[in-house]
Amino acid sequence: MSLIESYAAVAGEDVIDHLRQLGNLLKGIKVVHVNSTRVGGGVAEILDKLVPLKGELGLDVRWEVIQGDGKFYECTKKFHNALQGKSSPISDSLLTAYENTNVQNAEELRPILEEADIVVIHDPQPLPLLKSCPNRKGKWIWRCHIDLSHPYRPVWKYLRKFAVDYDASIFSLADFAQPLPHTQYLIPPSIDPLSDKNKDLDEDFVKNIRQVFNIRQDTPMMLQVSRFDRFKDPVGVIQAYRLVKKFAPSLQLVLAGGGATDDPEGEAVFAEVNAEAGGDPDIRILRLDPDAHVIINALQRTADIVMQKSVREGFGLTVTEGMWKGKPVIGGNAGGIRLQVINHHTGFLVSTPEGAALRARYLLQRPEKLHEMGRKAKEFVRQNFLNTRNIREYLTLMVALIYGGEDRIELNGRS
Ligand code: UDP
Repeated sequence: MSLIESYAAVAGEDVIDHLRQLGNLLKGIKVVHVNSTRVGGGVAEILDKLVPLKGELGLDVRWEVIQGDGKFYECTKKFHNALQGKSSPISDSLLTAYENTNVQNAEELRPILEEADIVVIHDPQPLPLLKSCPNRKGKWIWRCHIDLSHPYRPVWKYLRKFAVDYDASIFSLADFAQPLPHTQYLIPPSIDPLSDKNKDLDEDFVKNIRQVFNIRQDTPMMLQVSRFDRFKDPVGVIQAYRLVKKFAPSLQLVLAGGGATDDPEGEAVFAEVNAEAGGDPDIRILRLDPDAHVIINALQRTADIVMQKSVREGFGLTVTEGMWKGKPVIGGNAGGIRLQVINHHTGFLVSTPEGAALRARYLLQRPEKLHEMGRKAKEFVRQNFLNTRNIREYLTLMVALIYGGEDRIELNGRS
């Protein structure tokens, strides 16, 4: 079975047909994606599937990775922090390393980039490549995966100089868009339903995961999966749990976060969470390895309610993941959680531990309501947040850019 056919079983034949129709309009066009790493991080994970899928749809797709040295990555890490709001200037010597690295990479990539019909540049690392491709034929898109809602202005002003030359840009949410002289497309993130984190699991395996982590079977469990970060409000989750436990004494809480970390703040938050838990035997605080995808998948499946009580959230993939497992999500009324949790339908939006507790208690007392909301949550993800939707939107954007000058575009793929 081809990769694309394996998605038909999950996303539906009609979704795949639609992709094929769009693919027909784009047959043979040369597309190049450029980022700065082939493994690790969300962008690489997305491209890993996106590139072969577009290839199966008839596009001539390449994925190129730029190379840099320590100074280059130091600079781009600082970009990342500054664009997400950290006020820290970047030295001229780092900026020079950044620009020179792009010039050097362009030496090798220029023939491919200038020939391409569409170039998609991911994040700030390869952004200046366009300046080194004066004879480019195609359209260039900047795909920014970063939360740009409150950037540190001097750094954004510097990067914006490179972004203005693009034909279009893509942001994940309306809140992240910035004034730019071209059309900005909003394409939310997505999950891969066939990845280890999200694929269907054997029932026995799911059941067994409770045993592995010493979680009682057949009594309710609330779960929050997230880094130990104050913005994710793990302490607020424990406070909510305590309030619910007064009414549901057998309730258990699982907080699953990253394993040993060199992030000093992560350690401090982990200590705060342990202090708040105060040795309660019904609270499990798990530190998982970064590649514990199947374990997280099983925990999400065995949970009764998934929490994501963030006070700030870019998108919140843990919300999407929980909903995909058929769980209603009680989520903080913040950022991208609002796109996913449709209050009273796919879950509840809350602002306080008391609010979270009220909703959790409501759901635990009404199992049929809990299951109904869980079903709606899964369907909502199927319709809106699978990677097949992400590809459809990319292809639609490419059709718009390539055929934009024409009076009529036959979207059913006939010419
Ligand atoms: N995650 C993980 N292990 C952990 C904590 C989180 O694999 O210990 C995963 C989680 O399943 C999700 C991603 O990391 O896929 C977190 O994305 P999200 O958008 O929820 O939050 P971020 O950490 O990017 O703020």
